[in-house]
Amino acid sequence: LVETRSVGRSFGRLEVLSGFDLKVEAGEVLGIIGPNGAGKSTLLAVLGGAIPPTTGTILLDGVDVTRRPSHWRARHGIATSYQVPRPFLGMSVLENLLVAATFAAGSRGHRAQAAAVDSLQRTNLERFANAEASSLRLLDRKRLEVARALASGPRLLLLDEIAGGLTEQEVPELVELVRSVAASGVTVIWIEHVVHALTAVATRLLCLSYGRVLAEGEPAAVLASPEVRRIYLGLDPEV
Ligand code: ATP
Ligand code: MG
Repeated sequence: LVETRSVGRSFGRLEVLSGFDLKVEAGEVLGIIGPNGAGKSTLLAVLGGAIPPTTGTILLDGVDVTRRPSHWRARHGIATSYQVPRPFLGMSVLENLLVAATFAAGSRGHRAQAAAVDSLQRTNLERFANAEASSLRLLDRKRLEVARALASGPRLLLLDEIAGGLTEQEVPELVELVRSVAASGVTVIWIEHVVHALTAVATRLLCLSYGRVLAEGEPAAVLASPEVRRIYLGLDPEV
């Protein structure tokens, strides 16, 4: 579905990613972990088109989309949900989703309405349709943040630390949401520091450190890898 070929991204003299190759097939839920500053959000921003890569190529279904900006990618199936939801607080939940469907997907009228209602249902927010976004508790704002991304009808959903700030009781509810989104046919790339959230749903796990892949593969095997244990988890690799 999506592929990066030799992608590099620098900020001034800081080279965050270089020669980065990644291939994600339709139907995967790829979890990405790694220390702060590893380049995870940069990778997601480059995939979503929020920032262009400095070097390299991004392919969507084999087509070069490297120079396509985020609004173009949103209309062609790539959407992103962020750690800190920023809904329009003066609007209802449904109005927020209508805005998302209109601007992200470029749909109008009936189609925008249908997309908004569909994303409400997929995130279990129907009962809050007419509530003000500002009145939602954090977990439901996270749902709204995912719904906002779903309103553009993505095939690829990029999640950047959406579990951040949730309680241990709330995390499984968010995991369940991601699981059901994935089951509906959306490919997911989920960056998260709450590692157990990822192991519950990821079909593949990748650990990034300073733009380098420390380990990649079956989640349990990645978490057991000596480099991941030492560099990311801060555990003694021998124990
Ligand atoms: P975290 O787990 O803390 O979210 P991350 O893996 O998402 O970390 P990035 O946000 O991708 O890390 O940042 C990687 C590096 O790039 C960091 O050193 C960061 O300071 C730097 N960086 C990111 N965005 C910019 C920017 N717009 N301008 C300058 N430097 C940046
Ligand atoms: Mg980040």
